[in-house]
Amino acid sequence: MGQEQFSKQEAETYAGLVTFCATHKNIETALKCSRCGNAICPYCMIQTPVGARCRICANLQKSPVATLSLRRLILTLLTTVVLSAVIGTLWGYFLPGIRSVLFLPIIVSLGVGYVIGESISIVSNRKRTKLLVWMAGAATIFAFVISSLIFTFGRETHILSWGIMELFTVGLSVYLAVTRIR
Ligand SMILES: [Zn+2]
Ligand SMILES: [Zn+2]
Repeated sequence: MGQEQFSKQEAETYAGLVTFCATHKNIETALKCSRCGNAICPYCMIQTPVGARCRICANLQKSPVATLSLRRLILTLLTTVVLSAVIGTLWGYFLPGIRSVLFLPIIVSLGVGYVIGESISIVSNRKRTKLLVWMAGAATIFAFVISSLIFTFGRETHILSWGIMELFTVGLSVYLAVTRIR
């Protein structure tokens, strides 16, 4: 047996068909990462919509619009809470003055949803995650609850008495807020 006697596997390796995994040096593979071209094996490859990739490239592939850093998330959350409380307070305070003006309450309600949704979108750096969508909806409802509480404060009724019309405008407002994110 001389040294010129290559095994079939060794011959394939030299022919470039089969190589060793870049991470697992002792595992033979013919797979390559579709992005960086490094050899990958079934233990470290990750299937992505654009083919099999190494761990590093699979992580890079995650869409940046769908990921939100914790710092950004907390900032967005705080802004949302403060903003919807302020908007709700102002809305509740001015509601008695404008509620009799035709269509104005509806227009303002829609404005509330738009402003809340748009603000969340701006503060979160235009990210699009499910959490932000929920946040926009919840913040809008929160603003309306606050406005209702302030509106009824000091009056005979302290109960939130939303009729069909109020529910409709809140629904539209939530829709506008949510579509600012999506
Ligand atoms: Zn790669
Ligand atoms: Zn591997």
